[in-house]
Amino acid sequence: MTDAPILRRWLSQVHGLVPAQLRRDPVTRRRSQLALGILGANLIVGSALLIPLAMIGEPDLRRIALVNTCACLLLMLLGVLFLRRGSLWLTGNWICAILYAGFAFATWTGGGVRAPFTICLALLPMLAGIIAGRRSGLAWGCISVATLTAVYVAQAGGVELPEVTHPETTVLLAFGALAGTTILVTWMTAFSEATKEAAIVQIEQASAQLAAAIQEEEKARHAADQAIAANAAKSAFLATMSHELRTPLNAILGYSELVVDELRDRGGNDDLIDDIRKVHASGRHLLGLITDVLDLTRIEASRLELNPTDFEPARLLREVAEIFIPLALRNNDVLTLDLGDDVGAVHHDATRVRQVVINLVGNAIKFTRDGTVTVRLRGDPDKFEVFVEDTGIGIPIDKIERIFEPFTQVDASSTRRYEGTGLGLAVCRRLVSLMGGAIEVRSSVGRGSSFTVRLPRRYTIPEHTASVTTSAF
Ligand code: ADP
Repeated sequence: MTDAPILRRWLSQVHGLVPAQLRRDPVTRRRSQLALGILGANLIVGSALLIPLAMIGEPDLRRIALVNTCACLLLMLLGVLFLRRGSLWLTGNWICAILYAGFAFATWTGGGVRAPFTICLALLPMLAGIIAGRRSGLAWGCISVATLTAVYVAQAGGVELPEVTHPETTVLLAFGALAGTTILVTWMTAFSEATKEAAIVQIEQASAQLAAAIQEEEKARHAADQAIAANAAKSAFLATMSHELRTPLNAILGYSELVVDELRDRGGNDDLIDDIRKVHASGRHLLGLITDVLDLTRIEASRLELNPTDFEPARLLREVAEIFIPLALRNNDVLTLDLGDDVGAVHHDATRVRQVVINLVGNAIKFTRDGTVTVRLRGDPDKFEVFVEDTGIGIPIDKIERIFEPFTQVDASSTRRYEGTGLGLAVCRRLVSLMGGAIEVRSSVGRGSSFTVRLPRRYTIPEHTASVTTSAF
């Protein structure tokens, strides 16, 4: 039946009128479409009825029938408003109430139980049941039967009801009532089928989409599993490789130092000593790189072991500053230590905190010439903060977040002035977050940078990582 283009066109028009709150599920949507369809059909059938009604021979009856039908049509339009406001119950009962008023009046004035309009009362429970729900349908069924019974009892009790005396009028009214009811019921059935089929198509489309989405999600999960497995394999490989490289490299460093001492003792060749020092420096650089890679992979594989102890950060900063005095002098930098009020002891892995501070101070001095590097310590009952500020080259705003990514340098060109691997800050950020803190940076090109490390006073092992932090490569 939905093949009929008129029904499909009607359905799409009607669908556009259904408000958003009544489109939430297919059943409500379908009932709303039916309500609009019935309202529309009533309006059409009612308007068409005006023609036979205008042909009624008795002027009084004709006037009453026309006024009655026109009033019904106008009130019917109100039903569309109720539906647009989102109440199916009100819409259904409103339609039935208007029709009931019209039918009951027509029954009363058209000869009581013998009136041709009594058949129309049978429409009410069906309409109410479809639009407003089963209970409303039942209620309107009872009302219709009760009305007919009351009219019958009244007539049997001798109440005189106006009779339609004109035989042509009786035929016309009977024809109009039958034709109207038949058209309405046929229309409703066809429209109901059309909406049902449309709803089935929608459900089928939705389930096809759901199936596709489930398939996509499965694919994505599979890809994610593969990526996680590949990442774990990469981390394990790098950790093993780094470990294996450190052992011979430490031997190279140790022996090159020995050779330099030996040559110096023998009053040996300065050129050769210089060459071996270069071997030593390159070896140290390589060792730093390998250590950073090892740290990074351990953290990413959640296998970095932290050994928290009580220590004083003020003391740690003093030691770090001492290490950097020669480098600061070489760059003509003033290295200042501002320890503020006594912060006291904190509970953390001192080696890892030192590693972070060394990285930040090392960078600050590396990127500052003829300037100032200030290391500041502040604390409160919950946390302590280390600020490393410099007046160096600064970092462009668009690169500031990326410097924490591994192997990222602001100047990555082959002609860059500053040495480095681009791993230091990546390790710092991961270490600090592992220790329960955060690292922040503010910078301005040409004016300098300020890094802040904020840590809780006490390191507590996060519950979900407690088991893995005890293992190490
Ligand atoms: P690198 O070994 O290259 O120093 P880092 O991860 O420590 O690696 O730093 C990444 C990049 O961030 C550096 O190459 C540099 O471009 C930028 N950077 C870090 N600290 C500073 C700083 N204090 N001043 C200017 N640039 C900095």
